[in-house]
Amino acid sequence: MRIARFDGGRIGVVVGEDIVDVSAAAGVTPGEWPPVGPVRLIRDFDALRPAIEAAAATGAKLPLASVRLETPVPWPNKVIAYPVNYHAHGNEMQAGYRATNQGFFLKPNSSLSGPADPIVLPHVPGREVHHEAELGIIIGKTARGVAREDWKDYVFGYACLMDMVVRGREERVFRKAYDTFCPVGPWIVTADAVPDPQALEFKLWVVKPDGSRELRQHANTRDLVLDIPGMVATASAVMTLQPGDIIASGTPQGVGPIVAGDTVHIWIQDVGEMTVPVVQGTEGATEVFADTYVPPIVKQPLG
Ligand code: MN
Repeated sequence: MRIARFDGGRIGVVVGEDIVDVSAAAGVTPGEWPPVGPVRLIRDFDALRPAIEAAAATGAKLPLASVRLETPVPWPNKVIAYPVNYHAHGNEMQAGYRATNQGFFLKPNSSLSGPADPIVLPHVPGREVHHEAELGIIIGKTARGVAREDWKDYVFGYACLMDMVVRGREERVFRKAYDTFCPVGPWIVTADAVPDPQALEFKLWVVKPDGSRELRQHANTRDLVLDIPGMVATASAVMTLQPGDIIASGTPQGVGPIVAGDTVHIWIQDVGEMTVPVVQGTEGATEVFADTYVPPIVKQPLG
């Protein structure tokens, strides 16, 4: 099942090229604040599923193209992100460590945005903002100390995720915290509809205003350094996971700069695809980024 959020906090089931509003069956109040309905929906999904499926089968279909899709879980308990989780990306960044050495960091929930929200580049002259294509993993149940072999019991579903970053050597969380630096969408595909999340091909293109497309990233989740069971086990060893928590699983090789006017297109096998426009913002200047970072980061060419 593909579960989307749209038009001001409505919950929809995506059926083909249409979407059916199932907000009532899902127990979600559009426009609520804080928008935690999706978290409860995920917690209660097993019990709600028959009613949601019935509503999806009988409700009015709206063309997907006629609605504004929003980030599926706008108010999770936390967004967990694994750095340097593909060897080839570690190599291109000349990083001598991997997620298996570093663990994870957190992205602020306020960095979450949806497929229809542009990525707003902060005003940080002289710095590059890079895209990182990642599989987003949505946690389904409260959990602490999950054993590797039990990981599937705690995963609700999957989504496309972009971990945006101001490239540099300052605190990683700081550089990844800007508003709109965590687009997630276009929906959550429930885990039962993703046969093998540990063998998902995925790609990211940057599309220029003239329509030309550059394939920047192309990888497969089978090449994760810390695999999905390991990510669930590691995060839950430290923190209590909650329904709706999001794991950004790490990016493969091919990260690179985006500029205003670009559109970033991500596709993940069995999950979906979304295109996110990039605009230049006026906010975001900070003395932290006033100095050139030393030593410079030199990306290695892909082998
Ligand atoms: Mn990342």
